[in-house]
Amino acid sequence: MLPERIRLLADVARNLWWAWQPDCRELFRSLDRRLWEGTRHNPVELLRQIAPERLERCAADPLFLELYDTVIARFSRLADDTGTWFHGSYPELARRPIAYFSAEFGLHRSLPVYSGGLGVLAGDLCKEASDLGVPVVGIGLFYHKGYFDQRVGLDGWQRDSEDPVDTGASPVVRVLSPQGDVSLVRLETSGREVHIGAWRVMVGRVPIYFLDTDLDRNAPEDRDLAARLYTVATELRLRQEWVLGVGGVRLLRALGLEPAVWHANEGHAAFLYVERLREFIADGLSPDEAIARVRDTSVFTTHTPVPAGHDTFSMDEIERVAGPFWNVMGITRQRFAELGGPATGDERFHMTVLALRLAGRVNGVSARHGDVSRRIWHPLWPERAADDIPIGHVTNGVHLGTWMARPLRELLTAHLGPDWEARQDDPDVWSGVLTLNDDTLWAVHERLRQLLHSYIREEARHRWRDHWKDAAKLAGVGALLSPNVLTIGFARRFASYKRADLLFRNPDRLRRLLTNPRRPVQLVFAGKAHPADDPGKQILQRVYGAAQDPSFEGRIAFLEAYDLHLAQRIMQGVDLWLNLPRVPLEACGTSGMKAALNGVPQLGTLDGWWAEGFTGENGWAIPEAPADADADDWDMNHTLELVEHEIVPLFYRRVSGKVSPGWASMMKHAIAVAGRRFTSRRMLRDYVTRYYLPAAREANGREVARPPAGAAPHG
Ligand SMILES: *Cc1c(COP(=O)(O)O)cnc(C)c1O
Repeated sequence: MLPERIRLLADVARNLWWAWQPDCRELFRSLDRRLWEGTRHNPVELLRQIAPERLERCAADPLFLELYDTVIARFSRLADDTGTWFHGSYPELARRPIAYFSAEFGLHRSLPVYSGGLGVLAGDLCKEASDLGVPVVGIGLFYHKGYFDQRVGLDGWQRDSEDPVDTGASPVVRVLSPQGDVSLVRLETSGREVHIGAWRVMVGRVPIYFLDTDLDRNAPEDRDLAARLYTVATELRLRQEWVLGVGGVRLLRALGLEPAVWHANEGHAAFLYVERLREFIADGLSPDEAIARVRDTSVFTTHTPVPAGHDTFSMDEIERVAGPFWNVMGITRQRFAELGGPATGDERFHMTVLALRLAGRVNGVSARHGDVSRRIWHPLWPERAADDIPIGHVTNGVHLGTWMARPLRELLTAHLGPDWEARQDDPDVWSGVLTLNDDTLWAVHERLRQLLHSYIREEARHRWRDHWKDAAKLAGVGALLSPNVLTIGFARRFASYKRADLLFRNPDRLRRLLTNPRRPVQLVFAGKAHPADDPGKQILQRVYGAAQDPSFEGRIAFLEAYDLHLAQRIMQGVDLWLNLPRVPLEACGTSGMKAALNGVPQLGTLDGWWAEGFTGENGWAIPEAPADADADDWDMNHTLELVEHEIVPLFYRRVSGKVSPGWASMMKHAIAVAGRRFTSRRMLRDYVTRYYLPAAREANGREVARPPAGAAPHG
């Protein structure tokens, strides 16, 4: 029980808003510093474990109470969205929400229901929607066994262990029906009726509902249907997507919500459009009219040109999982099949094709990816020229409050004035960054590098104590890294096209570079391979082996168990970000934006966001390989060339221990460009003005009377 005077701490802990409020983090930290670290920055768990005497003491401490009152005053304002950008600009649309469906959401490490960039992007969008007052409602799946926790064996092979969600230690709340029932909606799949419940998490003003089939009433195979994120068993995956899309629409109806716009973040959620079709046809519309209506108000974002990123199913699988849903919809099997095919000449049902057919507004996630997507999906519009295909782009962005390190935010506050974060979409704010004092900026960066290095050492110490007896492992996790050496970071999923091992194609040259006695270089790696991706695991194994190879002299580290927290540490604490996707397979890539926001310039191939973000002053670009060259060799040689002849000399051109002026300039431009063009604020405003508003106006213009949804379940 919390003392009365500070009882609202429990509410604050259960809203992930705290995660991007420095004063709020400080508040929890000051409750009990050791426990804050011990619970891995988890206030729900902290409040569960903290000693009652400690709480009593805080409740009587004037300094603590002063901070508490400030935080609570700001927290209370979340309930009211007047004064936010969206409410001020579009009051007429603030009434009906935007439903945002995503198979994963990366919000905080205490909620392991994400695997990588797609989930973190969805999480960042929701955080930004809260900041801007955009009425987004998220819909996802509750994977009660999580994604997976990474442990790498002595042989360098990734072992995947469970990382279940502990609902008692995470900010989720079970949603109950007005009758107090955990089952909120039902749907039929694989010939059985499945009850669906939901957990809700608040992200500032934005609720996200995670659909849950792990209810007593369901058959065992249905309870485990959504146990894990991204299962590879196709039919199970299809069932998950069926629950997400169809179940998600039904849940929104049961909650009494009437979205104006329906946004599917990637094809996994595209069955939502099918359920909406069914509703319109049931309301008496013809199939063609229903399709037109669904298209008017649907937005679809495609996220990858890599074939494995697009789910396809056979019609037999669809029939087994969805039953003859076409009968329920009132269309023929053939007509249903046509919604998802054919795209590439095969007979399969493509989730992306389904989304392209049923969403009237479609976008890729960078200018280049928009272009690539128009070419990939050209066959769907054979009568049009490729440039004329209705796929646009909204370049991804990252949430500033989540990704920019606090010391840097404080430096900018001192330099630009206290309200600069609120004015972050004013380009002048970012021009102001260019006049930062070099040494002050460097001092902040040095602090962040020290934080990364002490984190690495502490992790190594714990593993040494708890797990290993082998000293080579210690070197491999970075115990020999030096905080004064140019440090290059590479952290992301170990998908083959991201080429984490590219530089190892020429190990001798890499070794000379890293072990140069006067101007050495270090490499820090982190990332997980998908549990079913053996080529990805082989790449990881190779990197892991190099990290323990004494001939690299301890200048390579591989950090296990990559998650949101480790991502922040690395992106804020290295000197240079390395991004080597094989062109044109990276749709966007967001980790380089996060690094750049922290003054970490990027070296990368001209793919994804870098094709539009590279200015010549904020990092380095590898020119695109000519068609007749081996792209791997080309990109590797250019990378090593640039590091050796431009980056190392520039970094080490330092006057009496200070920062090299050329390097400081790169850092400032990195921040300015990322801040001006690659934040989630810019991204969400693009979605609102170019996608949501036109769709919502169409919805408002043709208000359809739907039957009253019944009493709303409450959280
Ligand atoms: C930003 C982020 C990613 C995305 O990285 P890419 O640059 O798109 O490869 C993946 N995982 C985590 C934890 C992240 O924070």
